[in-house]
This record gives sequence, structure tokens and C-alpha cells, in this order.
Amino acid sequence: MLPVQEAIEIILNEVAPLGTETVESLHASGRVIAEHVLAKRANPPWDNSAMDGYAIMAADAVAATEECPTKLKVLYDLPAGSFPHAPVGPGEAVRIMTGAPVPDGADAVVMVERTEKLEESGEVLIKAAPNGGDNIRYSGEDFRIGQRVISAGTLIRPAEILMLAAVGQPEVTVYKRPVVAVLSTGDELVDIDKRPDKGQITNSNGYALAALAESAGCIVRFLGIARDTRESLTEKLNEAIEADAIITSGGVSVGDYDLVKDVLSELGSTMRFWKVALKPGKPLAFGVISGRPAFGLPGNPVSSMVAFEQFVRPALLKMAGREAIFQTTLKATITEGVRIRPGRMNFLRAVLNTEGDDYTVTPLKGQSSGAITTMVDANAYIIAPPDSSGFGANETVRVQPFDASVFLADTTDYPATKETDD
Ligand code: AMP
Ligand code: MG
Repeated sequence: MLPVQEAIEIILNEVAPLGTETVESLHASGRVIAEHVLAKRANPPWDNSAMDGYAIMAADAVAATEECPTKLKVLYDLPAGSFPHAPVGPGEAVRIMTGAPVPDGADAVVMVERTEKLEESGEVLIKAAPNGGDNIRYSGEDFRIGQRVISAGTLIRPAEILMLAAVGQPEVTVYKRPVVAVLSTGDELVDIDKRPDKGQITNSNGYALAALAESAGCIVRFLGIARDTRESLTEKLNEAIEADAIITSGGVSVGDYDLVKDVLSELGSTMRFWKVALKPGKPLAFGVISGRPAFGLPGNPVSSMVAFEQFVRPALLKMAGREAIFQTTLKATITEGVRIRPGRMNFLRAVLNTEGDDYTVTPLKGQSSGAITTMVDANAYIIAPPDSSGFGANETVRVQPFDASVFLADTTDYPATKETDD
């Protein structure tokens, strides 16, 4: 049996990022950026005030206290959006708002709460001695002109959109989204809206695999069901090879495999068929048809989803241009013991939760590769290494959450915070 990591390596060696296209930054969320973004401007663009207050020369107010304030002449008001028209000199101050450029000469902003305006005389009392630099955000302290602010291969999240807007980039070059053909094979299958006859079941895998491909940022071409005949498979796979990648389910167990292999070979693919040391999900076919990867996943619903997660998702993410293509794992304390037959890397459906500051994980009963209920109840896999014969309660185990970001049912346990500046 082929180790899981080796199968992943072989597959990843055969796939490469697709071409690129330009989209509006406003609609680029979820895409993968195909260019390094170099800042055409600095942030902040000029030294500016972090507070509403008075821009002064710090040296003027070294002795200022509540009881013995320093009196300065207010030259003018400087709201955000305006630019200073005169520097600040000794004995002078400018009333400044958050975000407004700090006038030349000034090297500190005293927050308004530590001042008192004398309206009649046009003066201000400074009631606390500032340090040089207080409440000033310096030009370029966030990023400088020419600095790389986003790297190619990054998933565009709202934070990257913030950056694209901040550097004034209305459009962005992204990788094309892979078009993925999803085909289910089996004489026993009927479509979702048909009532299964004796001996028939609904094609559930096709729907799950379509959803998984979409969750990897792909466009799905849903091809429905191919029968276990040469004609039906040939017809459907001929449609499938127009996509960037092909995913089939079923027909890769030892008995059936020859048919799928024959048809794919006729279409120009050298298929490789492995027994991968993965449970569930042992049988796996992989080939490349005119540059496009074809994944033959097992028919059992859980097996096909586990195999997608380990083999197909990283490949699709690589095709989609992503640099980070592997799912996060974390450590959790297993709440009860579980026995496993060693020999294959085992993915146990489980419920991940928190308890105090720790993650806990509970394996679900019913780990059959046909048990759809446990897929629905689970939010994570426990990954047992191939040599493991199980875990005792309270052991630390490695867990792969179903989603890259884990959401838990409880409200966020916010830490108590000290004072913040906004
Ligand atoms: P196979 O790999 O074709 O031998 O299928 C293994 C098991 O998975 C059988 O019980 C099939 O009925 C079941 N199966 C195959 N394809 C699907 C599908 N698209 N949806 C649900 N179950 C399936
Ligand atoms: Mg079958």
C-alpha cells in the first residue's frame, strides 16, 4: 500500500497553477492573487495625528502639569482632509484632528483631554508634558513606497481587499478558478429527485464532491451519473475532459476498476491505481489526461470525502495558485478511548470542542465508510498514524477540522482587555 504522503507528492508533481485574469478588487474576495503587490504609495502618506489634540513642540511643554500648565498660542485649526499651511514654532500650537497631517516644527500631539482652550485669547493650556513623538503616526511606518504588501499566491481575504484599496488598486490579477468536472459512476445510482427502486440508491457523492470542489474555490461542472458500461463512461468522460480537473467516484474497487481504467486509457490517460494506506478511502485512481488531473475516488461516501480532503483539495488549491495548500491541524485531548486496526492512516470522524483553554475531541460511534450521519455530526477528523492501534482517554491526538476556520457554538470567550486607543 502506498503511504498517504507519497500519493500526495506524486499528485502534486503533476499539477500546476492555471492562467490568470483581471478582476475588480471589489469582487476579488476568495480569489488567489497572481501578482506581488508593491505599494505605489506609503502608509501613512505623511506624518499624521493619532488623536484629536494640539500639535506642539514637545520642548515647549516639558514642565507642563495640571497645576502649572504651559500656555501656547493657537495658530489655526487642522481638520482631517486639510493640509497645514504654516509650521509650528516655539510658543505655538495647532488644533489638530485625528488623521490630519502634523505641521512642520511640531513633534508631539497632546490629546485634547489634557488641554484647555482659552477661547477669548486664542490660546491653549497644555496640562501634561508630552514626549517627542507622542500621538504621531509617522509616514511609512505601516508600509513604504515599493514595499511588497501582498505576495502572489495569497488567498484574497477582506484584509487583502483593504490593502488593495489602501494602495489604490481598483483591479487585481488573479488565477483562474479551476473548472472541475464531477462524475459519479454506478448502475445502482439514481439522481437526487428520483425515487430509488429496489437495489438503487441516490447519487449522494456527486453532490458532496461538488460542494467540496466549490469550497476549494473551483467552478463545478456537474455531470451526474455514468453507468458501469463502456459506452456510458466514454460519453460522460468525453464531456469531463473539457474541464481543468476530473473527479469521479465509484468504480475503483478491484472488481470494477478495469472498466474505468480502460476508458480513461482510451481517452489518452495513463492511469495509476493505488491502494493507498488510508482509511477510509483505500482505493484511489490518478491519471493525467492532456495535462488535466483525473481523480478516481472510491464509491463509499465517507471514503470519497476523506480522499478528496487529503488528495484532491491540495491539488485543486495548487492549480488555483495558492501557496498554502494544506489543511491546518491542531492538538486536542481525546475524551474517550478508541481502538483502531493499525496499518493505514486512519481518519476518524469526531466532534471538536473547547474545554477551558484546551481543545477536546470525541470520536463518533459508527465509523463505517458508508455512515453519512457521522459526517453530518462531525466537525473534524482525528488523524491516527498508520502504526496506531488506538488511543486511551485523555491522550493528545492530532485533529484536522473540516473547515480551515473553526467556528464553535459558544460565544467567543473574550479575554479581559486593558484600555485600548480606539
Ligand atoms: P464502488 O466503489 O463503485 O464499488 O462503490 C462502493 C460503495 O459506494 C457501494 O456501496 C456503492 O453503492 C456506493 N456508492 C458508489 N457511488 C456512490 C454515489 N455516487 N453516492 C453514494 N454511494 C455511492
Ligand atoms: Mg460502483
